[in-house]
Amino acid sequence: MQLDQKVKRRNRESGLTRFKPRIVGRYGGEFEGPTVICIGSLHGNEPAGITALERVFDQLTKQSPVFRGELIGVAGNLKALGKGIRYIEEDLNRIWKPHIIDELLMGGNQQQARSAEESERSELIQVFAQVCQKKNSAVYFLDLHTTSAQGSPFITISDTLRNRAFTENFPVPRILGIEEQLGSTLLNYINEWGFITIGFEAGQHDEKSSVENSIAALWIMLVGGGCIDPEEIPDYQSSYLELKKASMDNVGFYEVCYRHDIEKESGFLMEPGYLNFQDIRKGEVLARNSDGEIMSPENGKIFMPLYQKQGNDGFFVIRRINPLWLKLSSILRRLHADKILPYLPGMNSQNGANETIVVNSGIAKWYVIELLHMLGYRRKSLEKGMLRASRRKFDIKAPLDYRFDIEFKNV
Ligand SMILES: [Zn+2]
Repeated sequence: MQLDQKVKRRNRESGLTRFKPRIVGRYGGEFEGPTVICIGSLHGNEPAGITALERVFDQLTKQSPVFRGELIGVAGNLKALGKGIRYIEEDLNRIWKPHIIDELLMGGNQQQARSAEESERSELIQVFAQVCQKKNSAVYFLDLHTTSAQGSPFITISDTLRNRAFTENFPVPRILGIEEQLGSTLLNYINEWGFITIGFEAGQHDEKSSVENSIAALWIMLVGGGCIDPEEIPDYQSSYLELKKASMDNVGFYEVCYRHDIEKESGFLMEPGYLNFQDIRKGEVLARNSDGEIMSPENGKIFMPLYQKQGNDGFFVIRRINPLWLKLSSILRRLHADKILPYLPGMNSQNGANETIVVNSGIAKWYVIELLHMLGYRRKSLEKGMLRASRRKFDIKAPLDYRFDIEFKNV
């Protein structure tokens, strides 16, 4: 009862009513141009994304600026949002396994949804497929989130050169490599459709500034994608500068080097007061569980420390990436340097194609992961000493056209 009242109050304050439609809004569609799909509140305790979408749609409707292409706002975990919790039965942002989704789309998997989140996922995938099926121009995808800890807003992306280049539009730090740590996220899945995909973490869950930061990210996405000119948005400059200020000095690219998994732990509790991007030292006590102290395994910055009950990621450690490394990686990828990989000791391409590299980690030891990262390969699995790493399909070039050649039968 108490929780319910709290949720109602919070929903009222953040402008949310208990029941939200799946489509938050659509704008444009009259003139040729890109499609921007923005999803908010994939986690139900993160209402800022939907509130930001509603405010942007309001502003667009009032001002009716010239708009190329279309913006589509989508609500994420509706059931969890109604209760103000991260998820009902399982994390909606960890169940986007490509073979299951593809089967759903092709009409092969007629199984009943096994959880509240599986039925949310089915509805979402139908929406995305329907929206995308009719498009023959570029599609951009923005996934709006907030964190339980305070700290600078930031971006997460799958490491493609196209994603990297697009994030130059945003005055916030950018994080690579989270795809290796978190399985089956929505962005990971959608990225394989060839879209530019951006995950934006706007700040702490219930901060007003998280709504403002999400609005700024949405405008930047629309301007960067070419839907709208910045002059058409009255507060574009001030909104951009506020976001820049909120990101403090944490500019550039960072890489996730450690994730503390709490799935099999009991009694995990973060030490109080850690902020996203705060410097930490190797051996520093960051949290505790029923076995005792949990220390940082390395020097770096703490990232997404968990200050809420639900979730399996205790904290991450990230490190700044040297800009020279980024430049070199970009040059090598454009030169298709991946061709040398199967000739190196302990490395083979899977099925004769370089999309996936199989590494015998007993033979190939030095700098293997660094080399694979540089060439765009991210770890998929490690089994019996064999590491499988795959690269993104649309790293350098966009798909030739966005009309999907697969016929979605179940849409
Ligand atoms: Zn989230």
